[in-house]
Amino acid sequence: MDSGAGGAAVHAGVDFQQRLVAYFATAMLSEVDVSPMLAVSEPLLIERISMETADSVDDFSLDCHGERRVLVQAKSSPVLSSNPGSEFAAAVNQFVNQFYDDRGTNNLYVLAVGPNASARITQQLRKLLLAIRYDSNAWKRAPLTNVEKDVLNIFSQLVQSFSQERGGCELTDHELIRFAQRVHVATFDMDDSGSDCRTAYILLRVLTRLKSPADLVWSRLVQLCLDASKRRLQIGKDGLRSSLSRFIEDAHEKYEAQSFFEIAQTGSVEAGKEIVLLSFDETKILIAELHRFDGQGKPRVKFANNKCTLQSGEYVLLHRTSTIVGMERYLVKHSQSYADRQVVLMPAVFDADPNLSNAAKARAAWVREKLDQLRDKLSCLNCGKSVSARIATVIEVDDQDHSPDAGIVHEHCVQPMHRVLGEIVSKFAEDNPHLIDFDIKLWVQKLRTGQGLLTGLRGSQNASGARIVWNPDLVETNRRYCIRILLSDGSRPAILRREKVHQFSLSEAKEKVTEFERHLADGLRIGNPLFMSADGRIFGDRSSLAKMYPEESVSECKSAEVVLFSRQIAEEFDRWENYYAPLITIRVGESEELFKIGNAIVFLSDVFQVEKHFLNWAAAGIILPDYYLEIIEDDAAFDIVMKNNLSTGLLAVIDPFLAPDGTVMNGQLVMPIAAAIEASKQN
Ligand SMILES: [Zn+2]
Repeated sequence: MDSGAGGAAVHAGVDFQQRLVAYFATAMLSEVDVSPMLAVSEPLLIERISMETADSVDDFSLDCHGERRVLVQAKSSPVLSSNPGSEFAAAVNQFVNQFYDDRGTNNLYVLAVGPNASARITQQLRKLLLAIRYDSNAWKRAPLTNVEKDVLNIFSQLVQSFSQERGGCELTDHELIRFAQRVHVATFDMDDSGSDCRTAYILLRVLTRLKSPADLVWSRLVQLCLDASKRRLQIGKDGLRSSLSRFIEDAHEKYEAQSFFEIAQTGSVEAGKEIVLLSFDETKILIAELHRFDGQGKPRVKFANNKCTLQSGEYVLLHRTSTIVGMERYLVKHSQSYADRQVVLMPAVFDADPNLSNAAKARAAWVREKLDQLRDKLSCLNCGKSVSARIATVIEVDDQDHSPDAGIVHEHCVQPMHRVLGEIVSKFAEDNPHLIDFDIKLWVQKLRTGQGLLTGLRGSQNASGARIVWNPDLVETNRRYCIRILLSDGSRPAILRREKVHQFSLSEAKEKVTEFERHLADGLRIGNPLFMSADGRIFGDRSSLAKMYPEESVSECKSAEVVLFSRQIAEEFDRWENYYAPLITIRVGESEELFKIGNAIVFLSDVFQVEKHFLNWAAAGIILPDYYLEIIEDDAAFDIVMKNNLSTGLLAVIDPFLAPDGTVMNGQLVMPIAAAIEASKQN
């Protein structure tokens, strides 16, 4: 390798490390739990990032809530090697040293690697470490493959030799296991199109509320993290926020109160009065202002069945607010509905301000607390869907038909008995009017472990225009059993489907195993045994697998067995949580049917391309009627949508861009497998 290429490789490594620090910094600012990313089971909220060494960023720690500390060694493409000078050995050395310093703590050690790290690290070592966390006898008990034995040997020998250097003696077996139980391997795809980089972008865009382009903030953040590491500084939330303040200036000032919505307008909750709009008769509506509580703090007005009972009788309730101003706002907005009726105002004269009574103050405090708890839970109290419209209505529930509550509802979901406290305006929604009622946190959460198929396509050359095959017979089943294949090298991969451990019922699994063993026997009889790749993804004869995999990662299938499915097996073999999902669908009009272009239902895969698509479709003459966006959270939901629609002869397309004449120019067509086979015959 000439020095130029070597320099590029070093640069790529440094770039990975910087980006990883920036990624964690983003998660810290956004208060996102990073435990799923680090393959750790208990929640980890980062409070500070500390740089350990002056001249590189490959060594940092995440100081998390509850005194948890995670030491990270970041290596973009390490190779598992027993050479003490290798990158891998350097990381193990750091961990061993830390282990000596960490007696009495429960600190964790994470080897964070890029997608190009050797499979011996991302697969075999990861698997061995996972097994030992579940069962401290795993290495003795489980049958290990030759590759696994080799990996375990190299790892143990490195640990022991560094222990000898540091502590003057080797670790006991017990100590070695305790050490290994702290070590995690986690893979991060920090390329521009990588899933983790995309997640960071989304978080930044929400955080900055689109004040600045996310890539600009991202590069600034990467630079800040590099500076901090050079000077061995700690990166804390407050410092980082103020360094980025010119990008997130609005959010910065009232950060503590920052959430998707600013509930600022409800700052003073008024709880002492009832302002009610009543239907008096065909010609008149009545506005009454009433004391809410009596001297004993009991409600004076009864609300039930959308009616309001006063001393003078029972009336049909049209609207209910906490202030006169709120009622006026309602009437202005709905003046058309009441244009032919006379408004009769019944103002009250109060001896003292009803809002200052003890009962009112107690109730106001209770409501205030309820609203403070909302923060991220922005679903409508009425319909349950996410609320991210520009304006949402803050209400209190207090009637005889429902248990008391307070929260937000869609403007169109306000019910007559809802006691309207005010309106809130979302800055984010104001800046992103196309993201109607979109649950951005759910999206980010699902994206990290989803879109396995699309992520694979993004990395490939001819992604656009690709056809995606969907098999209607493979709808999600979550049964209790799975099948493991015993290979000649001693490994036991599980059978996957959509890159996830396939779960069967016991009878299905038994049937499959019988079928599989018959297939094996047939292969042996004709001298063409069945082989499988070590990652469990592909079966075939030796020669066809040899084209795709190096020889060492292909083995002969010996037998198959039915085993109980477990979380451990899933963690070991699942590549993605979801293969297709998350995706976005658009529901239109009063019927809320799925939006289609031609005879294809439309899915979108990137929340920040939504507007671009809308503009493109508009240019082709397709204007969306009233709509909202819906998240297809997981593959099970995707299968349901596909089944319901494709059975009626419709097609599906992901991310369509249209030519001006309305034909699909770009996008990924999703076809049922039968149609795909038919189409390939015709070509
Ligand atoms: Zn609603």
